[in-house]
Amino acid sequence: MKSLWNDKEAKQYLSDPLQLRVYTSQLLGREPDLVLHGGGNTSVKINVSNIFGETEAILYVKGSGWDLATIQAAGFAPVKMDVLLKMARLKELTDTEMVKWQRAAMIDPSAPNPSVEAILHAIIPYKFVDHTHADCVVTITNTPDGEKRIRDIYGDRMIYVPYVMPGFILARKVFEMTQKIDWKKYDGIILLNHGIFTFDDDGRESYERMIHLVSKAERYLHKHKAVISVKKTPQSSFNKLLEFASIRQLIAQKAKTPMLARLNRSQEQLNFASISNISSIATRGPLTPDHVIRTKRIAAILGKTPQNDIAKFAEDYRKYFNRYAKAGMTMLDPAPRWAAWKNEGVVLFGTNVSDLEILTDITNHTIRSIQSAERLGGWTALPPEDIFDVEYWDLEQAKLKKAGKAPSFAGKVALVTGAASGIGKATVEMLAAQGAAVVALDINPQIKNMFTKKGILGIVCDVTKEKDIAMAIQTTILNFGGLDILVSNAGIFPPGEHIENLKADTWQKSIDINLTSHERLLKACIPYLKLGLDPAVVIVASKNVLAPGPGAAAYSVAKAGLTQMARVAALELASYNVRVNVIHPNQVFDTAIWTDEVLKNRAAHYKMTVEEYKTNNLLKVEITSKDVASLICTMAGQVFAKTTGAQIPIDGGNDRVI
Ligand code: ZN
Repeated sequence: MKSLWNDKEAKQYLSDPLQLRVYTSQLLGREPDLVLHGGGNTSVKINVSNIFGETEAILYVKGSGWDLATIQAAGFAPVKMDVLLKMARLKELTDTEMVKWQRAAMIDPSAPNPSVEAILHAIIPYKFVDHTHADCVVTITNTPDGEKRIRDIYGDRMIYVPYVMPGFILARKVFEMTQKIDWKKYDGIILLNHGIFTFDDDGRESYERMIHLVSKAERYLHKHKAVISVKKTPQSSFNKLLEFASIRQLIAQKAKTPMLARLNRSQEQLNFASISNISSIATRGPLTPDHVIRTKRIAAILGKTPQNDIAKFAEDYRKYFNRYAKAGMTMLDPAPRWAAWKNEGVVLFGTNVSDLEILTDITNHTIRSIQSAERLGGWTALPPEDIFDVEYWDLEQAKLKKAGKAPSFAGKVALVTGAASGIGKATVEMLAAQGAAVVALDINPQIKNMFTKKGILGIVCDVTKEKDIAMAIQTTILNFGGLDILVSNAGIFPPGEHIENLKADTWQKSIDINLTSHERLLKACIPYLKLGLDPAVVIVASKNVLAPGPGAAAYSVAKAGLTQMARVAALELASYNVRVNVIHPNQVFDTAIWTDEVLKNRAAHYKMTVEEYKTNNLLKVEITSKDVASLICTMAGQVFAKTTGAQIPIDGGNDRVI
């Protein structure tokens, strides 16, 4: 591991200890082998003068909810040192009380809650304190003779702390162990099965020592040939999409909430999932206890009968809870958060795409560590009761009770066609805003980079090509695990031609895109919709179906055919609980095609003002893309849970339709 310290970068921070703390914290955060997603914490002790002109010693410690990689000065909670040191002398203190009293001892009430390790940081008599969960240090201690190995590496200049629960118990343990020591004789602290601390009065030195000490553990792994390297060989093709979608459905049923699933099947995950004793090594425990909140204690192992495997996981989870639970605890859902799918790869389960990404990082580090430790005599995670204590920590349970309601489409997967503009684009954004993972298809290549929100995947797709459709569906299933909402929206508005003069090409193109492509797409999606969670199809037809106009035969006929297809689909799919409903929007004008110029010309053609033209309906309202998207979302959601085969107009009222 290399130091990322850069004199040029650091120069501007040297005069301000808090800024220097921010800088070296970010340096630690940049190295995923040290800390991952909120793991680890850092602090600096600064004397601050208060409004009474008195000087107070303050510990600026990482605030809960902040990530070292992106932390700013505002992410450090300023807590009075004298209070923290007094707390360290208490024999007992619950973590809930600890958090409460630490909050009360902050000099800035708007700062975040201090890290649960604040007392431990306060005890260490140096200005800068750095704490990470370095993979290689934890890996070495997660072996049968881990303590001996780690002592061999570091010798007597480290303080070795046996595993205890993080928070007050750990702080108290270190307090007791260090009452009579001479701190000058030590370079750092090793927390077995948890991580490593370094400290110094100089901010750079504390950081550099972390890198130096962790590098020693890295060299040890190299020397003992315990570093896992992966040859990049091409992946075999994957033909179990339906099986994967049914796994995701089973997981959601166990979790009693919609869940996304992602299959990671690059060479590294494939190798791991193909290890002969995978059922043993993936079910011993997490890399560090704090991962349990994300990963649950162990992975599920999926073999030939995933249904049985998932049922067994849930049953075992219930037993684990009943065995270790104390009065008043609420059991979390019994579904796994990751699985080794034998010979197929590593599967992740979560209610949103951020969760899947965090799980990807954590499991990638975990599977490497497991294999390293296997080469050092065997992966040995902490016993279940220790992991349970962290999983059901009262601080975590409190968070759970406080957590608000999940967004309405959390854990659901939607596919929208014609997604680069107008109704399609607005629908993608609205479904995503309501928590869905959305695959946005369009023939416009800009679709790939159009959406920046996490959870929206833009794919270039010509819906008239079956190959493109198949590829889009495969990407959807591999990334999100299934398909629950299909918004079949792609369409064109052909030039106005009376039937007498209708060009064969105009007719054919409209039929191909406005009708046939929808049939092909629906056909390809049906097997996945059958495995979907409260699956719903919304077909975007047109006001023209019910109130056609002259010169629009190609368009109106295709949309009428599309409506008829949707009605038949509603009949055919009802027994699979797949709802199919049709929306008939009037023309929307808030798209790029409707420039001021075009609008003016069209309005003039009908001898109207632009405003009259845009609101030419009974209610005299303009229909926007967002209005239509909003109704589509409603039709895809709970309000329409008991409706299928319906046609809903959104046209401001039309006497010919009424
Ligand atoms: Zn820690």
